Amino acid sequence: MKDYNPYEQMLSVLDLAAKKLGYTLNEYNAVRYPERELKVAVPVEMDDGSLKVFEGYRVQHSSSRGPCKGGIRFHQDVDVDEVKALAAWMTWKCAIVNIPYGGAKGAIQVDPSELSDRELSRLTRRYTAAILPVLGPERDIPAPDVNTDARVMGWMMDTYSMFKGYAVPGVVTGKPIEIGGSLGRNQATGRGVVIVTDEIAFRWGIAMQKAKIAVQGFGKVGGTAARIFYEKGYTVVAVSDVSAGLYNENGLNIDEISAYAEAKGTLKGYAGKGTSEISNEDLLKLDVDILVPAALENQINEKIAPDVKAKIIVEGANGPTTIKADKILKDKGVVIVPDILANAGGVVVSYFEWVQNLQAIFWDVHEVNTMLKKIMIRSVDEVCALAKEKNTCLRVGAYMAALNRVVKAKKIRGVFP
Ligand code: NAD
Repeated sequence: MKDYNPYEQMLSVLDLAAKKLGYTLNEYNAVRYPERELKVAVPVEMDDGSLKVFEGYRVQHSSSRGPCKGGIRFHQDVDVDEVKALAAWMTWKCAIVNIPYGGAKGAIQVDPSELSDRELSRLTRRYTAAILPVLGPERDIPAPDVNTDARVMGWMMDTYSMFKGYAVPGVVTGKPIEIGGSLGRNQATGRGVVIVTDEIAFRWGIAMQKAKIAVQGFGKVGGTAARIFYEKGYTVVAVSDVSAGLYNENGLNIDEISAYAEAKGTLKGYAGKGTSEISNEDLLKLDVDILVPAALENQINEKIAPDVKAKIIVEGANGPTTIKADKILKDKGVVIVPDILANAGGVVVSYFEWVQNLQAIFWDVHEVNTMLKKIMIRSVDEVCALAKEKNTCLRVGAYMAALNRVVKAKKIRGVFP
C-alpha cells in the first residue's frame, strides 16, 4: 500500500478547479468516477515450464468526448488507484489539447526486466486477449507507457487483429511504422515537453540559451526531451535513470550519453569528462533553471520540495509532484507546468497516428511536428490565459480548461437513460 493515493490527489485538484469554475457537484460529479474498471488475471507459461499469474488492469475514466485513450504500463509496483489516476489524467489531457478522446490507462503488475522476450510476448498477448472486449479503434486505444514500447504495441495490434480476422492498425498507437505507426510518435512526448518549456520560459523571462536544465528519467520522455534540448544548443547539466544520475555543471554531452545508454541499457558507469554521478534525489535539488521530472509519480514530495531550487518545473512524467509538495513549491514561487499539459504531445501524435490509420493515408514527419507544435502552443496559450483570468496556478488552470470541455460534452449528451 502506498502512502499516498494518486486518485485522491487528482480529485482534490479537480474539486478546486470545479469550484473556481462555479460548478455545482451535480454538474461534474460523474467525472469524479471512472466509467469502468477492469481487473484481469494473466496466466503465463514461463520458459522453464512453470506457470505464473500476473494481475492486469484497464481503467476507462471517460468516453464522453470520444474513444478512451491511454497507455499500458508494465511495473511491479503498479496498483489500481495509480491506474485510475493515470486514466483520469488522460481524460483531462485529451480535453486540454482538444482532441476527440476520453481517457483510459492499463497496466500489468510485473517487472518486465525479469522476463525473457518470449515470456513478455506471451504476457502481452494474454493480457490483450483478457481486455479485448473493451478495446477497439472506436472504443479504447492503448499506447506505450513506462516499460512498454512499439514492439509491445505491435504484439497488442497482432493479437487484436487475430481475433478480428483482419489487420486493425487503429486499435493501438505508438506501434512500429511498418504496421501503421506514425512518423514522429516515438519522440512526440519529449518534443512536446520541449515546446512547452520554450513557451513557458519565454513567458517567465528565462533565456533558454543561458538556462541550466536537469531531466529525471532517460526513457521515451526524458531521454527524448534531453536529446532535443541538447540539439537546440541548451545546457542539460543533469540526467538520470533508475540506476544513476549524471551531472556536469558545464553541460552534459547528451549524444554521447544516449549512445552509452543504448549500448549498455543503463546510465550507470558512464564516465564522460567532467561528469560525476549523483543520486536521483540530488538531481531534483540541483540549482537549475528548469527541472523536468520524467520518470514516475511522487518523485517530488514534501521532503524534497523545500530543497528544490529550480525556477520552473515541467512535468514530463504523470503525477511527479505530490499535492503537499505542490503547495510548498508554489509558496516558494516555483512555476509548475502540470503533466496534463506538459506531456500531452504524446497523445496528440497518437491521435495523428489513429487518424492516419482510419484514413489509410500517411503524413510526413514535418507535417506531424508542425501540427504538434501548433496544438501544444495553442494549449499553453489557453491554459495560461485561464489561469491568469481566474488568478490561479497553471495546474488548476489546466484542470479548468479540461473540465470545461468534458462537462460541456456531458451536458450536451445528457445522462443515459
Ligand atoms: P520509460 O519506461 O521509457 O522510461 C522511464 C525512465 O524512468 C527510465 O529511464 C527509467 O530508468 C526511469 N526510472 C524508473 N524508475 C525510476 C526511479 N524510481 N527514479 C528515477 N528514474 C526512474 O517511460 P516513459 O514512457 O518515458 O514514461 C515516463 C513518464 O512519462 C511516466 O510517468 C509516463 O506515464 C509519462 N508519459 C509517457 C508518455 C509516453 O508517450 N511514453 C506520454 C505521457 C506521459
